[in-house]
Amino acid sequence: SAWRQLPLAERIAHALVKGIVEHIEVDAEEARVALGKPLAVIEGPLMDGMKHVGDLFGAGKMFLPQVVKSARVMKKAVAYLEPFMEAEKAARGVVSEQQKTFVIATVKGDVHDIGKNIVGVVLACNGYKVVDLGVMVQCGEILKAAREHKADLIGMSGLITPSLDEMASNLQEFEREGVRTPVLIGGATTSRAHTAIKLAPHYSGAVVHVADASLAVEVCTNLISEDRRDGYVSTLKTGQEEQRRVFAAGREEQKCVPIEIARANRLPYREGIIERPSVVGVHTYREVDLAKVLALFDWSPLFWTWELKGSYPSIFSNKSYGEQAQEIFREANLLIEQIVSEKRFKLEAVVGIFPARADHDDIVIFDSEGCQHERERLCFLRQQRERQGLPNLCLADFIAPKDLHLTDHIGAFAVVCHGVEAFAGEFEQRGDDYQSIMVKALGDRFAEALAEYMHKEVRALWGYGKDEQLSQQDIINEKYRGIRPAPGYPACPDHTEKAKIWSLLQVKDTIGLALTENFAMHPASSVSGYYFAHPDAKYFNVGRIDRDQVIDYAKRKGMSIEEAQRWLAPNLGY
Ligand code: SAH
Repeated sequence: SAWRQLPLAERIAHALVKGIVEHIEVDAEEARVALGKPLAVIEGPLMDGMKHVGDLFGAGKMFLPQVVKSARVMKKAVAYLEPFMEAEKAARGVVSEQQKTFVIATVKGDVHDIGKNIVGVVLACNGYKVVDLGVMVQCGEILKAAREHKADLIGMSGLITPSLDEMASNLQEFEREGVRTPVLIGGATTSRAHTAIKLAPHYSGAVVHVADASLAVEVCTNLISEDRRDGYVSTLKTGQEEQRRVFAAGREEQKCVPIEIARANRLPYREGIIERPSVVGVHTYREVDLAKVLALFDWSPLFWTWELKGSYPSIFSNKSYGEQAQEIFREANLLIEQIVSEKRFKLEAVVGIFPARADHDDIVIFDSEGCQHERERLCFLRQQRERQGLPNLCLADFIAPKDLHLTDHIGAFAVVCHGVEAFAGEFEQRGDDYQSIMVKALGDRFAEALAEYMHKEVRALWGYGKDEQLSQQDIINEKYRGIRPAPGYPACPDHTEKAKIWSLLQVKDTIGLALTENFAMHPASSVSGYYFAHPDAKYFNVGRIDRDQVIDYAKRKGMSIEEAQRWLAPNLGY
């Protein structure tokens, strides 16, 4: 065929750029015979091809899904060559002398790893040896791996806010241990500002925030280049110093009102709206129908995972990456067909509706409709900035205050998509990062869609949603009455409050969803939160709070002030 006519190096480069795995083993064999050594194939045509991929990606001419597919081709070729290298007793693995080593981990107490895996793949494509330590990694393990592998770079990733604090203490430990290796910071809650203000001061080495996978390569190149390194790091440090200065100055301007004043400016509770739910108590749902949940799929975030901006379905007509989006959609649907027909994922949920009254910024849950005995006390935070005519909101404002002697209700839920790690692991073992990442992204989509599906069930159970006339799209856009805020998100940023949901619903025992020491949900494809039914309930951001509220909150929670301060650090302005 025409394919065979192309010169070998060109064929290999073409396969890498286009992500075509079919001929790569034949080509690798041909190259091995021609070049005489398996390592020469890796360091020659394969690395050259990947460098080309890296360049195209850097220039915005290739997109992330394509790069991850290129990596799949590379891995297949390397896997083919490995037995020959072992036979030759060549270098261990594929590491050559010049290859730079990147040790990457999701920090202790955190489980999300899609972004971390993507960074790993992109760097591997650019010639780095990537040592991926996985999720929930203790500081000691990172240090040990960094030493053992003589890491040139260390990456720390985290999704939830408590991980910000983990990263800070890890850096202190690195510093104490005399490590000065440059550290890259990434993940959903991390930011350039946080890195400059809270992380960099603990470490004499470079600490760089990387906003997304496509930027990682350039940062790494700068950090290891003999010529550029010093200039890059000194510019970085000057920039971070400046950011700390600006932050310290801005701090004075962000005025908070005393918590008592904020409380007096609560959202007035509108009476005459609540109705008694037709059902109360805890309900468990096992093996929820995957196909039914699929109807409430919100597709857009799937494209964001692959770093394609836009929303479904208009993303398909995007001029530069519409085709990429279509391909992702097609491949995702193929996987979903397999997931559904082979029952790879198992959806489980537990929900509860409880009698409740608000007590200032707490919501008290009672053991019966008479509201005699307190069963649980949920603690919330209140907006404390000057609101210029607007109320200082707190989630407790959406529940009837206790002085009204009404019986109001609050709901709670936890949902999980089981089977994601196992299925993704099958692809990982075959070196197929593309499908492994796709499976994890779909696990998250199923969990979110399940949360939406359960919310709909609960609105019907409660009663006020029985006659709801909303299209699927309206539901996905959350056009219904009420909200389901999730602990750790802006209206209720304290992750530790999840423990109360776990106790109310017996989440661990009923649906096998656990909490880590930092209150991340494990397995990762899961969602938990509260249900508020009042039509006035809406999402908001607690934002900046002051020390007086932290002291008050610590007392309500039976926590030391230091501990409360640690969990609430992001709301205290780092
Ligand atoms: N359809 C989306 C849903 C996730 S984002 C998806 O499939 O990914 C929206 C969810 O985030 C809300 O349902 C709520 O649970 C949470 N959320 C959004 N804003 C919030 C806020 N300010 N406070 C608390 N939770 C919030």
